[in-house]
Amino acid sequence: MADNSDAYPHFWAILDQLPVALLYKESAKADIFANEAARTLLNVSLPTKPLSLPQLSEIRLLDQHHNRISLLSNPLLLALSGTALSQDVLLDIKGTATPFTLHSQLIKLQFSIGNTIIVTLCPQQSDSSAATNKATPGAPAPDIAELEEALAFDKLMSLISTELINVSSEALDQHVEDALAALGEFCHADRSYIFQFTDDLSEMSNTHEWVRDEVVSHKDNLQHIPDYALPYFFEKIQRDHIFAVADVSKLPAEASAEQLEFNNENIQSVLCTAMLAGQKLIGFVGCDMVARQRNWTSNDLRRIKLVGEMIANSIQNVNYRVSLQQIQQQLLKANQELQKQANQDGLTGLANRRHFDEKLLEELQRSARSELPLSLILLDIDLFKPFNDHYGHQAGDDALQKVATALSKEARRQGEVAARYGGEEFALILPACDNNDCLEVATRVQQHIEALNIEHCKSDVAPYLTVSIGCYSVIANKDTSAKLMLSKADQALYQAKAAGRNTIVSAGST
Ligand code: GH3
Ligand code: MG
Ligand code: MG
Repeated sequence: MADNSDAYPHFWAILDQLPVALLYKESAKADIFANEAARTLLNVSLPTKPLSLPQLSEIRLLDQHHNRISLLSNPLLLALSGTALSQDVLLDIKGTATPFTLHSQLIKLQFSIGNTIIVTLCPQQSDSSAATNKATPGAPAPDIAELEEALAFDKLMSLISTELINVSSEALDQHVEDALAALGEFCHADRSYIFQFTDDLSEMSNTHEWVRDEVVSHKDNLQHIPDYALPYFFEKIQRDHIFAVADVSKLPAEASAEQLEFNNENIQSVLCTAMLAGQKLIGFVGCDMVARQRNWTSNDLRRIKLVGEMIANSIQNVNYRVSLQQIQQQLLKANQELQKQANQDGLTGLANRRHFDEKLLEELQRSARSELPLSLILLDIDLFKPFNDHYGHQAGDDALQKVATALSKEARRQGEVAARYGGEEFALILPACDNNDCLEVATRVQQHIEALNIEHCKSDVAPYLTVSIGCYSVIANKDTSAKLMLSKADQALYQAKAAGRNTIVSAGST
């Protein structure tokens, strides 16, 4: 009885409602399901008791509630796995007195949606021997059959389009191929396909194709076809959005290139209709007849247009989504760049004052939690005003950049931050660094800047650019403020200036 019904695709419930008789199965599973119309057509009533397990040579036929309703022989399974059914199948149906012969002609259509393989049973297509079947009660008259086929096509399209609504770019190809298979089958065509144009409409390529068994595919040869190769076709599809030819041998003289191409592919009749994304032509969907000629009907046109619209919308949706993702990536990158700029000093590339304040607060809290020391260095260039006055503002800027580079090279440990604190004042935050280590770093910084050997003839301290440095170290507690640290380091700096500049003073540690 019914088990594990959730494992079956959601649209199987819809298949059961379709007025066309369908047998369907999942490609990897043995169970075959028959919809309501098929059960009526085959004249099967549900058995009251579960049947015995099928033998290897037999196949189970089930209704949508997973009740086994008959035993079939292998050829139908072949049909359901995509092989053409060449012989009639005897359906030995439990619960009915006489075995029922399923004629091969009855199997009209094979196609798949995802993993589901579907076979359509069409009683009106079968020959006179089919009429002798006892089990074809109420076979519909042809016009009703046509209506039913139209209805079945519409429902099938609505299933495929439901699948297409949120299709990912990876799954798009499979769904487009499903739609083309359905179009080809319902239009009784030998080949169905789409071509996509380049943006400037100067070239087209065959991107997807379905071909009936035994029909040759030409997809690989139909890539990057320029407009001048098939001028008649390009003009017609771009202007009229339709290209319908029942007999290609009757094409006008100016279509000689097209005629040659159609002859090369053995095409006798062709029907193409434009695919539009909004107002823009993006390609076309088409059907070919190879085995025989065909006068295209209004139904064919309606179907091909519907499939074209559906595929165009899906391609557009996927493209929108891809370009949205690209825009999102760009925005994210721009945002990161902005964030970086917001934290950076424009001249030196070091952390700016705002970022420095944030980092100092963070490190104070970390020190309070970890009870590890935190050190702060404030650094001010000596006699920078006379430097600027003598060498000019640009030379001043260059010197600031060199000092900044030296600082960032000396503050490379994890968590260390070098910042431009003000005009010619810099700061270093040194986490997990006590007073002794801090003095070592300060000495390295002082020597590094000395070694830059930036000439400063207006300095009475040295013939090159020098700096004064104030240090302060603390093991923070919850009351230690950034303001306190800064003022301690600043006092030390002031003392360094007062002591004659080019000097390091530590305010000690608490
Ligand atoms: P002290 O040794 O006492 O620090 O003397 P000082 O001349 O360096 O001190 P003061 O604060 O009087 O001068 C700082 C100078 O730094 C003033 C200004 O011309 C210069 N300055 C500040 N910002 C910039 C800048 O972005 N570019 C340049 N080129 N100069 C700057
Ligand atoms: Mg200063
Ligand atoms: Mg100064």
